[in-house]
Amino acid sequence: MECLFCKIIAGEIPSTKVYEDEFVYAFKDINPIAPIHYLFIPKTHISGASAITPENAEIVGKIFTAIAKVAAAEKLDSGFRVITNCGEDAGQTVPHLHFHLIAGTKMGWSAETGA
Ligand code: AMP
Ligand code: ZN
Repeated sequence: MECLFCKIIAGEIPSTKVYEDEFVYAFKDINPIAPIHYLFIPKTHISGASAITPENAEIVGKIFTAIAKVAAAEKLDSGFRVITNCGEDAGQTVPHLHFHLIAGTKMGWSAETGA
């Protein structure tokens, strides 16, 4: 198994867990870009948002349900952002579907192009 996040789920690489159920695992991002920065991942390997199909799409709802639970538990009442980067242009670095939960700061809004 070569996938970094599959190794995290298997406990072969340490992580700081913030949530877990039968289908979803969530942990602190190692390089946070905001005071709260967690990653929510499916326990089954899916390479990214472009690999969602009618057969596996149910996991997306389970992940967002987990995000809502954590947001409530952590009282993120003033707001939060959920991001998934897919593919090279978006800067996806780990090819295992993941949703960034970002909170704890007032955020701007721009699609940074680097141009
Ligand atoms: P992306 O760039 O959208 O593919 O997101 C990958 C995220 O995984 C980045 O925000 C990294 O900081 C994070 N990351 C990489 N390795 C680890 C790790 N071992 N533990 C926690 N987060 C990680
Ligand atoms: Zn994986």
